[in-house]
Amino acid sequence: MGRDLSTLAAREFDLLVVGGGICGAAVAWDAAQRGLAVALLERGDFGGGTSAESLKVVHGGIRYLQHLDVVRVRESARERSALLRIAPHLVHPLPIVVPTYGHGLGGRGPLAAAFRLLGALTADRNRGIVDPDRRIPPARLVSRRQALDWFPDLQPRGLTGAGVFWDGQLYNPPRLVWAFIRSAMRAGAVVANYAEVNAILHRSGRATGVSVEDRIGGGRFDVRARVIINAAGPFAGALLRRSGLAPDRPVHFSRDMALVLGRPAGTSRGIALQTRYRDPDALLTRGNRHVFLLPWRGRILAGVNSIIWREEPDALRVTDEEVAGFLAEINEAAPHLRLTTDDVAVVLSGLLPIARGELVGRDVSFGKRPIVIDHAAEGCAGLLSAITNRYTVARGVAERAVNFAFRTLGRTSPPCRTRTTPLHGGQITSFAALEREVAAALPRSDAAERLAHDHGSAYPEVLRIATEQPDWGTPIGSTGVLPAEVVLAARSELVCHLGDIVFRRTGLATAGHPGESVLEAAASIAARELGWSPARRLAELDDVRARLPGGAPTRLPAGAPH
Ligand SMILES: Cc1cc2nc3c(=O)[nH]c(=O)nc-3n(C[C@H](O)[C@H](O)[C@H](O)COP(=O)(O)OP(=O)(O)OC[C@H]3O[C@@H](n4cnc5c(N)ncnc54)[C@H](O)[C@@H]3O)c2cc1C
Repeated sequence: MGRDLSTLAAREFDLLVVGGGICGAAVAWDAAQRGLAVALLERGDFGGGTSAESLKVVHGGIRYLQHLDVVRVRESARERSALLRIAPHLVHPLPIVVPTYGHGLGGRGPLAAAFRLLGALTADRNRGIVDPDRRIPPARLVSRRQALDWFPDLQPRGLTGAGVFWDGQLYNPPRLVWAFIRSAMRAGAVVANYAEVNAILHRSGRATGVSVEDRIGGGRFDVRARVIINAAGPFAGALLRRSGLAPDRPVHFSRDMALVLGRPAGTSRGIALQTRYRDPDALLTRGNRHVFLLPWRGRILAGVNSIIWREEPDALRVTDEEVAGFLAEINEAAPHLRLTTDDVAVVLSGLLPIARGELVGRDVSFGKRPIVIDHAAEGCAGLLSAITNRYTVARGVAERAVNFAFRTLGRTSPPCRTRTTPLHGGQITSFAALEREVAAALPRSDAAERLAHDHGSAYPEVLRIATEQPDWGTPIGSTGVLPAEVVLAARSELVCHLGDIVFRRTGLATAGHPGESVLEAAASIAARELGWSPARRLAELDDVRARLPGGAPTRLPAGAPH
């Protein structure tokens, strides 16, 4: 299966989506499922932008209680439930522990009150979730002894116990984006990665299509569409400016950073620890901002550190000093860790739009809420922007954007069904049973759990390929990834580069450098399947190495094509 650019150029679509992050992918799936003729264009690889950089938390809403933002509490909890229903292989509940100290705002009383309110606001959180392992338990308080049992290194002075609440966790964010894209394709959407939209075309106050550059084969072509949804994430404003649809004035972002640490997690619970820094917006703050230390694939994920970013999004970078500064902040909150830069396996970073800038409505703060903007008011009918500030809520943003698109097309919309329809791989009633099924089919391999997560109910696709060669069912090195998965990616998952395979379709390099022999093995399989010359194979390997720690002094911009 390859990129079908001729179909894109040949016909007019009802809806064209710019950007294949979680937001664009969810728009494409929703619109295709509701019967629209849909195209999606992504300038890099699907899910390779901000969506690949997240802390992997599917927020359940508790953070917004301190802002007394009931709408966001409800929205987060609703979207967490939706993801647990439609992709139970890629999203699971994650307990997070908050230590309590003293008898003031950081003590047990206020936390118990917050948990009661959360319980009342999210009472319907498990509706329609059939797998008991995917249900979200009520938040609760535990004793001091229990807290120290779970986290023996907690500062004991003044410790009165802890609260435990449950968020969701993403096992593999780019793979979830791919599940949306694959589902959209199954419903008829035509998609292409490495296809950059250079401009939105418009005539007499109406959007008519886009001008596209093929970043693989070279060349330009136009795609015609009646409605365009700009889901280009941090690049949405730049695209409007390039198209003459927004004034040329600076846009501000929050640059968020998180770290994958090379240390073993040693626990299945996350912990939220206070730092010295205050949340300027909180109305009912329990104290200072929290740093989250979360177990993820056996390692520790730490986040989030934010600064205001005033440069163009293409200039995104994180300096070594900034990483060291964040490590110092974590070490202050968790001194026993004594982290150094040698512990950093991956630096995750991306830009989130904030309140000032041309995409912002009069009283809407980007940093606070996702928004859908109808650009008809600015003289371009048929153009919408869909901006999400959280991975968690992207499906809901997509639902609103597609409702808008139907109104713009003057058509009555069928009901949105993306809240309940399982994504590709998501036909699962019990994840534990699925894991056992996969393990039974792969008796000599330690890949079963990971395969069940990444492919869900679609795992037989991988096993069919594994029978083609004697060693395709044996994991590459100690990664747990099967050669058959690399083959599947190369044959049927729209892969153009080695980076697409190791960073996104498989988890080979998402938690850090997997080792040279692993990269070599993946490159050899990809080269054979995709017909790469020896020189191309080496170039692909060099490109991947440059993106891994030690390979380049600063990170490349999220979503930058290569
Ligand atoms: C460090 C960090 C931690 C985070 N943690 C969390 C978390 O724990 N939970 C959570 O819910 N959210 C989290 N977020 C926020 C979340 O990651 C983002 O809100 C979300 O991924 C944005 O998705 P998107 O699709 O809008 O943008 P993107 O993923 O950036 O997608 C936009 C896509 O558009 C493409 N594009 C741009 N211009 C063009 C063009 N001209 N033509 C074609 N394609 C184009 C880009 O290549 C990109 O792939 C975090 C963010 C960061 C940076």
